[in-house]
Amino acid sequence: MLDTLRRTIQEVNRAPDLPRALSIIVTRVKQAMAVDVCSAYLVDEENQQYVLMATDGYRATAIGAVRLDFGQGLVGEVARREEPLNLENAADHPAYVLSRKTGEEPFHGFLGVPIIQHRKVLGVLVVRHRDQRRFAEQEETFLFTLAAQLAGAISHASASGEITRLLQDTGQSSYALKGRSGTPGATVGHAYVVYPLANLDAIPDRAVADVDSEISEFHTAVAGVERDMRMMSARMVDSLAAEDIALFDALILMLRSENLVDGTIEKIRAGNWAPGALRDTLREHVAAFEDMEDAYLRERAGDIRDLGRRILERLHSFQPGAREYPKDTILVGEEVSASQLAEVPVTQLVGVVSARGSSASHVAIIARALGVPAVMGVDDLPVSRLDGQELVVDGYQSRLFVRPSADIRKEFARLQREEEELTHELLDLIELPSQTLDGVHVPLYANTGLLTDITPSLRSGAEGVGLYRTEVPFLIRDRFPGEEEQRRTYRQVLEAFAPAPVTVRTLDIGGDKMLSYFPVVEENPFLGWRGIRISLDHPEIFLTQLRAVFRAAAGLNNLRLLLPMISSVGEIDAALGLIRRAYDEVLEEGEAVDYPQIGVMIEIPSAVFQVQAMARRVDFFSVGSNDLTQYLLAVDRNNSQVADLYDALHPSVLRAIHKVIQEAHAADRPVSVCGEMAGDPAAALLLIGMGVDSLSMNAASLLRVKWAVRTFSQAQLQELLEEVQTLEEPAAVRALMHDHLERAGLGGLVRAGR
Ligand code: PEP
Ligand code: MG
Repeated sequence: MLDTLRRTIQEVNRAPDLPRALSIIVTRVKQAMAVDVCSAYLVDEENQQYVLMATDGYRATAIGAVRLDFGQGLVGEVARREEPLNLENAADHPAYVLSRKTGEEPFHGFLGVPIIQHRKVLGVLVVRHRDQRRFAEQEETFLFTLAAQLAGAISHASASGEITRLLQDTGQSSYALKGRSGTPGATVGHAYVVYPLANLDAIPDRAVADVDSEISEFHTAVAGVERDMRMMSARMVDSLAAEDIALFDALILMLRSENLVDGTIEKIRAGNWAPGALRDTLREHVAAFEDMEDAYLRERAGDIRDLGRRILERLHSFQPGAREYPKDTILVGEEVSASQLAEVPVTQLVGVVSARGSSASHVAIIARALGVPAVMGVDDLPVSRLDGQELVVDGYQSRLFVRPSADIRKEFARLQREEEELTHELLDLIELPSQTLDGVHVPLYANTGLLTDITPSLRSGAEGVGLYRTEVPFLIRDRFPGEEEQRRTYRQVLEAFAPAPVTVRTLDIGGDKMLSYFPVVEENPFLGWRGIRISLDHPEIFLTQLRAVFRAAAGLNNLRLLLPMISSVGEIDAALGLIRRAYDEVLEEGEAVDYPQIGVMIEIPSAVFQVQAMARRVDFFSVGSNDLTQYLLAVDRNNSQVADLYDALHPSVLRAIHKVIQEAHAADRPVSVCGEMAGDPAAALLLIGMGVDSLSMNAASLLRVKWAVRTFSQAQLQELLEEVQTLEEPAAVRALMHDHLERAGLGGLVRAGR
């Protein structure tokens, strides 16, 4: 037991958070003492209750649900007396109360020890035995020592506010979490947790309706993995040494081990679904292996994780379509991806919440395009406990409310009303030209990606499409779409806007836009194989897309082509060669299509300095301020840790764009801006001051920007730009612009800006 004690203490000290520390303790104690249940209760000062926070043996659904008022029950008795209570038959004690939520009827033996730090009772650790028996003194001291150990972790968590959040999370009360950035809008809905299979920790808890079928699916999954392992082993037998082959046998043995299978089944019976139950069993096993003295055995922790992922993958194959998205889905995850978002029927998606990422992540951009508020970078998001919960997403303040109170809902209903009123007032602008007070016309185009955003874009009065992100239709499929499939998709967009221009950007996958069926694993994906680099390395993919685009444009002739992620002119030359080839083929096949205008995205710093050389090769430029900002400032647009540093109003970003506009104009080439800054009224005004020729943005921002455009003269904006150019900090630029917007009576737009 001493050895177990030492190892458990080490593990607890290493646990990343309190729930995991508690879960390690209850599991280890149950194993070491060979008892039927071990549970940990914590004090909830606010509600004057003891709350069951971890258990191995009681139903999982009891966690957070079992709450005893101070002084109530045997737990209350232990806390009141501040000393252990060791009973042969719990029910004989006058303080005993039966809690049906735990499913505890058959238990008799009881041993409870208080968890005390600095004379304060923080909780109670309890073990139970099915039989009537008193616990030995040695068992009492074992539990006592662990409780003392736990006290340190609990008081640390209490000081950092972790306990308060945990208790709130298990209770019924509302609480708020803060993200690092967001997209405008506020909404109420229900959480739908998504997770990548590779991340075991991101799997949510879910109550299971049919325990037996869940167990049988688990058995089938394990059997399937065992079959895979045998096949792999047979395939490798000639090419691997005998001791390496033995590794497969060891894995198969592990798969069959009672601990892995029975441990999981026990947890399913306790109410959790198979993936959640497996996640907990794997955690215990991995921790046990990681703690071993022997280095070889320690490394086996990785094998267990791998086995776990294989089982999960199989379990997952039972799931697709099994669970329906709520009609007010708020997509929640550790790192929600653009493809996970694209899988939700748009009419059912009302919000997005992600522990990682920022407002410049693609998932946030697509959310914004759909008018769906998002909160990004919520560091302490309790993902595994949010599934199905009611949430309020406040994208303006980057806040999230779990189980909102009536007051909070009322407040957000008011905010939504105000937004609607503003939107309603702006509708009068649809028919009016996007023109400054001194008559300069600045066309406002829409950014699209999903077919579903065509209608809002048309309704917003967009004068065309300035950026059609063709990777979005690729993201929502589970294989590359064929030429005809692509043609039909592109045709819908081109036709919907004809004769207005539609700028089709060729495939820009990579970075944070990964296709599930074309995985690319890189240390540094934003500096890796992305955009045009992939298209040039895979001419078959590029040519198929180009042929589809040309065929889609036949007879309409409103197509413009845009090349993403250009870092040097060689890429343009290579791309132009392939474009010409695809065009000639389509022409030969008899399609009536004009050769389109071709443009380059300026989104990599090297391109800023080669505008003149590029202008000799292409017809127009479009500034991708999202990437240009990330690459100029060395701030990963997807990293919530540095989201505060990401700002397109940084003086260097503004100066770079100004330079691009000046040099392009010197070469007689027009410049558009299609990154998110174009939809921020403050930034849009500065761009007009620089002389930008057009702006392209999500439909939801279009009328707001038009309102701003129509309120100033270009001469005023040039002056404003000069004033801004004297400033040295992004915050100062934003403050000055907001001040000007307020003074011009456009205060309503400030909230929508970042
Ligand atoms: C950009 O980088 O600004 C841009 C418009 O492209 P994306 O956001 O799709 O990378
Ligand atoms: Mg880009």
